[in-house]
Amino acid sequence: MHELGIVEDALEIAFEHARRVDAERIHRVTMRIGAISGVAPDALRFAFDVATRETMAEGSAFEVELVPVRCRCVECESEFAPDGLFYECPACRTLSADILAGREIELTSLEVS
Ligand SMILES: [Zn+2]
Repeated sequence: MHELGIVEDALEIAFEHARRVDAERIHRVTMRIGAISGVAPDALRFAFDVATRETMAEGSAFEVELVPVRCRCVECESEFAPDGLFYECPACRTLSADILAGREIELTSLEVS
C-alpha cells in the first residue's frame, strides 16, 4: 500500500525528531496532503493507525490538512483554483497551467513530550 510507505517515511522523521529532543511520546502528527498528490486521506489514516501500533506514537492524534489545487495561468499569470479536471484559466480560457499547490505530501508539525 502506497499510503503505508508514506506514513512510515513520515514516522521515521517523527521518531528521529523525538529522539533528538529526548521526548518519550508523540502526541500529534500533522501532514499536508495535496488534492492531486495521489494520496487518499482515509487510507493514510488507516495506515497511520497500523504503523504507530506499539510505538511511541501509538494513540496519537493524526491530522490531515487537505491542500486544494492552485494554478497559475501561463498566459495571463492569474492564479486560480481549477474546476474539476479542466485546468482552464477563468480570466483568459487558456487550458494549460502551472500547478502551484496540490501535490504536497508533507509532515508539517509534531507534538512530542
Ligand atoms: Zn489566463
